[in-house]
Amino acid sequence: MLPLTRFRKIVVLTGAGVSVASGLRTYRGAGGLWTSGEESAVLATVEALAARPGEVLALFAAMREAVRAARPNAAHEALAAAERSASGRGASFTLLTQNVDDLHRRAGSRDVVELHGNLLHSRCTRCDRAPFADASTSFESCDACGGQLRPDVVLFGEHLSVDAERAAKHALRGCDLFVAAGTSGSVSPASNFVRSAAYEGAHTVLVNLEPIDPPNPAFREVHLGPAEALLPALFEA
Ligand code: ZN
Repeated sequence: MLPLTRFRKIVVLTGAGVSVASGLRTYRGAGGLWTSGEESAVLATVEALAARPGEVLALFAAMREAVRAARPNAAHEALAAAERSASGRGASFTLLTQNVDDLHRRAGSRDVVELHGNLLHSRCTRCDRAPFADASTSFESCDACGGQLRPDVVLFGEHLSVDAERAAKHALRGCDLFVAAGTSGSVSPASNFVRSAAYEGAHTVLVNLEPIDPPNPAFREVHLGPAEALLPALFEA
C-alpha cells in the first residue's frame, strides 16, 4: 500500500495495540491493564514502588510471566520484515515503541528504541548497575551492592530515559515517513512525534483500531483496524 522504496528514513512508533493479538492487554482504554484492575494502575507508580515494593514487584513478576509466554504476531513480523527490506536497500528504519514486552526484538527488529523500557530487563534501585537481562521473576537483590532490583520500565511519575528520548529525536530528524501503529495519535508521545515528523516534511500515517477523537490533522493518512491485519498489507514488499 505504501510505496516504501520511495522513503529513505522511516520511523515507526508502536503502542499496545500492536501486541493485542499476542494476547497482551493494552495498558489504557476499555479492559486495559491500567484501567480494568484499578489496583494495578495504583501499583505502577514510583510512589507505590517505594512504599509497597513487595506488592509492586509481584505485579511486575506476573506481567513478566505473561510477556514471556506471549509470541510475536503478524504486526511484529511485518515490521521486522520491513526493516530488513529497508536495510537491504540502504534506507534507515527505526522502531520507537511504547511497549515493554520485548516482542519486536523477538520478531527480529534490530533498530528498536524502547521508550518505556523493557519488562525483561532489571535494574538496581540503589547503585548504577545498568539495565540487564534478567531471567528471574522474583526481583532479587543486586549482585554488585545488594540493593533491591526492579524492572527497567518507566512507571507513572517517572520520566522517559534521556537516552531513549535522544534516540527518538535523532530518528525523527530528517525522516520522510512516519507511521504510528496501535497507539492513540492524539496523546504524547505520538502527538509530539507526528508533529516533529510533519515539520520535517515526512509523510505521516496512523494505523489504529479506533478513530482519533479529536482528529489529529498532522496525520495525512489514517487506516482503521487491527494492527496485525493492516501492517502486513501496508508494508507489503
Ligand atoms: Zn546495585
